[in-house]
Amino acid sequence: TMDYGPAPEAENHVAAWLAQHEKGFRHFIGGAFVRSSGKATFDVTNPARDTLLAKVAEGTAEDVDAAVKAARKAFPAWSALPGHERARYLYAIARHVQKRERFLSVLETMDNGKPIRESRDIDIPLVARHFYHHAGWAELIDSEFAGYGPVGVCGQIIPWNFPLLMLAWKIAPALAAGNTVVLKPAEFTPLTALAFAEICREVGLPEGVVNIVCGDGATGAALVAHADVDKIAFTGSTEVGRLIRQATAGSGKKLSLELGGKSPFIVYEDADLDGAVEGVVDAIWFNQGQVCCAGSRLLIQEGVSDLFLRKLQRRMETLRVGDPLDKSVDMGAIVAPVQLQRIRDLVAKGKAEGGTLWQSPCDLPSKGNFFPPSIFIDVEPSSTVSEVEIFGPVAVAMTFRTPDEAIQLANHTRYGLAASIWSENINRALDTAARMKAGVVWVNSTNLFDAAAGFGGYRESGFGREGGREGLYEYLKPAWEKGLADAADAKAAPLSAAP
Ligand code: NAD
Repeated sequence: TMDYGPAPEAENHVAAWLAQHEKGFRHFIGGAFVRSSGKATFDVTNPARDTLLAKVAEGTAEDVDAAVKAARKAFPAWSALPGHERARYLYAIARHVQKRERFLSVLETMDNGKPIRESRDIDIPLVARHFYHHAGWAELIDSEFAGYGPVGVCGQIIPWNFPLLMLAWKIAPALAAGNTVVLKPAEFTPLTALAFAEICREVGLPEGVVNIVCGDGATGAALVAHADVDKIAFTGSTEVGRLIRQATAGSGKKLSLELGGKSPFIVYEDADLDGAVEGVVDAIWFNQGQVCCAGSRLLIQEGVSDLFLRKLQRRMETLRVGDPLDKSVDMGAIVAPVQLQRIRDLVAKGKAEGGTLWQSPCDLPSKGNFFPPSIFIDVEPSSTVSEVEIFGPVAVAMTFRTPDEAIQLANHTRYGLAASIWSENINRALDTAARMKAGVVWVNSTNLFDAAAGFGGYRESGFGREGGREGLYEYLKPAWEKGLADAADAKAAPLSAAP
């Protein structure tokens, strides 16, 4: 399947699919594509070409309510299925994702701006993998999680950086554990979620088990506020995560938050420097740096700093930025003009604060939202660009002398999502790893995701884990809690109902 030739067929399929929906995409509620209760729509554009891809219905509070009702209605039968029967649907979804791998990759790239090489090698294969993995958990859930039951109706809000992969991270474990869901994709990138809704229909997933309501933050807020939602799972900015935590406080809703990061990338002087240079490419220029666990703070041991930065600068010069549908492109477009402006503003601030900026001298396309691979060298740990998540292809580099200093600098952040450590001395690498205040630590590697490994943060990076056994606990609750709820219901039953 390593065919990277031009994918005109998949591009034609996507064009035909978009043409079919020229009048606008609807919400997916109760197993059908339904009209919004309101008239408002929003535009979805291709960030690499500045062209309109689709119009999508803006979800109202009534739409959210209809979706929650559909999910509630579907919950008793879905949660009562034995795990191995739910597994069959998850396997079928995984297979259908694989069958449409090219279509989904092209659609994702057109909607988000990420290089086709990434969507075809990483995003979409990981989506399928996530559903396969959780199909396995669904088979095991009754034996491995005896004493636990599903939480109920889950409201899931996802960002635009890995649109379909974040959907998979949310929906696969929820369904495996017997929950039903209402998912709101990000307003910049709702298209693969709508294609996913079609897959749900194709595999005959019972109506209402998955519902998808599109819209912006207001639609998300309506979902968070809905009284009949039992759990909220959110991935996005720390600011919105904070709002959601406030909005759910005291409501009894279960909550998991996957937020921002400013992850350290530590290069010891005994590291394989060429390997570490490739690591930086993957850490900060993968997906245009729009990655919550991006290695955005390079900490380089003093003795090799000059050599390492020279090598990195040479490598930067070879990176190609351009049309993400071109298979030889390394970096595509920033998702939206507002994000591009945010990156430009932060870079201007970094320069104003005295940072030295290196940028790859590549030609940027004249249309679309592009920003070159960039690094600030010689920045202070307390400068704005060292502290704030840029969420773009911009790293900062600073030096350290001793392992203790590296660890102190690495943990000097409000966040705690990930860390990457480069050393040929495995004892040193593992000692350092154990002292990282980060949810995920990679040694001599970076930005690796696996459905079997829990992912999540500390501090302002949020709480809760996604993936693996620990991720399932986010979608389960102890049976005694259900017992308490049943007892409360029985007590609340009207006396006249007694025989
Ligand atoms: P955001 O947090 O505003 O949006 C994420 C999702 O939350 C979207 O679906 C959005 O519609 C929804 N949302 C917005 N306001 C909401 C509200 N009040 N209640 C409920 N849902 C709401 O993120 P953004 O504006 O798309 O990106 C801004 C910054 O967020 C980025 O620069 C980056 O720092 C961070 N980010 C982090 C991740 C991550 O994976 N951790 C992903 C994307 C963005």
